Amino acid sequence: MYFSKMFLPTLREVPAEAEIISHKLMLRAGLIRKLASGIYSFLPLGLRVLKKIEQVVREEMDSAGAQELLMPALLPAESFRESGRWEVFGPEMFRLKDRNDREFCLGPTHEEIFTGTVKSSLRSYRSLPVILYQIQTKYRDEIRPRFGVMRSREFIMKDAYSFDRDEAGLDDSYMKMEKAYRKIFDRLGLDYKVVEADSGAMGGSGSQEFMVISEIGEDGIAYCEACGYGANEEKASCSPKNTIHSVGSMDESMIEKIHTPNIHTITELTEFLGCDAVKMAKTLIYKADGKLVAAMVRGDRELNEVKLKNVLECTELEMADAESVRSVTNAEVGFAGPVGLKIRIIADHEVAQGRNLIVGANETDHHLLNVNIGRDFDAEVHDIRFIAAGDACPCCGKSIILARGIEVGHIFKLGTKYSSALACNYSDEEGNERPMVMGSYGIGINRTMAAVIEQHHDENGIIWPMEIAPYHVIIVPVNVLDEKVMKIAEVMYQRLTDAGLEVILDDRNERAGVKFMDADLIGIPIRINVGRKAAEGIVEYKPRGGKEALDLTVEEAIEKIMSKGDGSSHSL
Ligand code: ATP
Ligand code: MG
Repeated sequence: MYFSKMFLPTLREVPAEAEIISHKLMLRAGLIRKLASGIYSFLPLGLRVLKKIEQVVREEMDSAGAQELLMPALLPAESFRESGRWEVFGPEMFRLKDRNDREFCLGPTHEEIFTGTVKSSLRSYRSLPVILYQIQTKYRDEIRPRFGVMRSREFIMKDAYSFDRDEAGLDDSYMKMEKAYRKIFDRLGLDYKVVEADSGAMGGSGSQEFMVISEIGEDGIAYCEACGYGANEEKASCSPKNTIHSVGSMDESMIEKIHTPNIHTITELTEFLGCDAVKMAKTLIYKADGKLVAAMVRGDRELNEVKLKNVLECTELEMADAESVRSVTNAEVGFAGPVGLKIRIIADHEVAQGRNLIVGANETDHHLLNVNIGRDFDAEVHDIRFIAAGDACPCCGKSIILARGIEVGHIFKLGTKYSSALACNYSDEEGNERPMVMGSYGIGINRTMAAVIEQHHDENGIIWPMEIAPYHVIIVPVNVLDEKVMKIAEVMYQRLTDAGLEVILDDRNERAGVKFMDADLIGIPIRINVGRKAAEGIVEYKPRGGKEALDLTVEEAIEKIMSKGDGSSHSL
């Protein structure tokens, strides 16, 4: 492609709305354009990358034995009604009606639709297992679309669904998908972790997320370098044997009420009493499906609402309002404690292991010292806190590391949730009707593209891995008015293109500096500068991530480009 002919509207200025580097660079490098909040067009250069990512995904899905099909995006309400998700999705679902007043949605995900299709097509155990997938546009009216295509309202997802006879079959399909996902994200040059995810609301027996390590990631993850354990922080378990016992004496002392005027927070209390937060326990009052409950974690810990929700098996969980707090504690907010509390109490393991804790007294401006579980109050003991950096790994006991991650993929053992709801059954060897056992597997294609940029860029722009670069090589004739220079540039362009490479020739009559800047911005992996030494048949070979340019003859340069078989150059 000749640069002068390309529809490549690069921007010099960083658009104000873009907060993260990938969003900035995607706009600046002319990959995407915003149409409305959370809705983006992919321009030619961006679309090339998107298609290449899709191709990597497609190849690995196909080689794992999955078969591609394409479902509509416009979906009738019925199957979502059958599964109960017409309500569950709430305002996140884009809904519409046809001219006959029939209800539809723009598909946010396709479990129901695949289940319905398989149900009407496969009846016998002999047809199973089957894994089907599509690469298709999804619609979700996100509360807060942001970070460009990272969290948008229209996006492309690869979604796959497996149908098996039993749990063992599901395990096998799931493992195939996990392996395929690892290959995909390896090929895309991503540094990622596979972490256990909470499957609470979705049910099912297990799920893992593929998290690209990045400071801008919306998810917290915990992992262990020693044994490979990894979990979303919502899920990461703090096993009781690994919790640290409270400091100080383990002998139980007499309970004592103290006056703590206007001390509402743990920080204020530590300052007031001059003691450490590990000696305290916070009592937080929640409303779980309308019922008040108390949850206790150590003073220095954060309560994990996902874990609490799972313990309570509730659908709605929110902090209680001040009036409700007053109604159960008879005190202002900030003085809740477990002693004498008449509601269900869930205490974290560390609270149960602590002795002589400082807690709220259920009396305004007062706290209690030396409170002990079992003696002074009773509680159900569970793991309800967030894991912290340096905590013992629940698998091997070594130190846990915390990081931020961008969720690019999610694999999920659904079990029979959808097949039961939609009667997607098969008949087994004995002729018994059984629900198929399902899994679902998603990858956000455009989010993955943004995640690649988050991990592959420098101050000058994007550095595409060869596998998904929009073009492999950019040839920059330094002076297009110099005939010798142009001749060599064109010869190289032709030879590389004939060899199947994707090449840009920057034929614009611009200063070399401007052209180099653009080449760096759009991140083409190899740049060939044709300059002063062109007369001697010498060109400069400059890899986009590398420091130095190499002087090579035209033949050497072509050979070097062709031999870029370093694993990342799948498409070369
Ligand atoms: P998130 O927690 O980020 O909202 P999710 O759990 O809703 O993700 P899934 O329903 O598992 O996501 O969808 C599968 C994949 O689709 C995700 O792993 C992610 O890569 C992508 N994805 C989900 N929502 C969006 C979005 N709003 N914009 C872009 N990609 C998305
Ligand atoms: Mg979501």
